[in-house]
Amino acid sequence: MKKSVIDRLVKKAIALGIECQVIESDGIHAFAIRCEEGTHLALEESGVKILQREIKRRKRQCRHEKAEFMGYTGGYHFYAGEVWDDIREVWCCPQCGHFLTEKQVARLKQRLYEKTTVTEEPPF
Ligand SMILES: [Zn+2]
Repeated sequence: MKKSVIDRLVKKAIALGIECQVIESDGIHAFAIRCEEGTHLALEESGVKILQREIKRRKRQCRHEKAEFMGYTGGYHFYAGEVWDDIREVWCCPQCGHFLTEKQVARLKQRLYEKTTVTEEPPF
């Protein structure tokens, strides 16, 4: 098993809040992964499989609450005297790497807005 592949996987897992540790000895990788069912100890491919399964599960559960605004895509278009744009905001979740859909962005903004209005002081 390539070390770079394992490193990437472990980095992803840690970003998602999965507790995992990989120990290398004589070129053999031993995985210790903590998930809901308990702690898994596995070697090489079986360790990778368990970790990938756990990453998938966490991704499904991720609510992308820490999603960050990355910038815009698209632009303005001119055709046959018409002007339109397909400018979209790009939001990405640093925890699971998911790019949010327009609907998800709208929901996230709603939540952020609700949070700020709750904590706001009354004007008088
Ligand atoms: Zn996410």
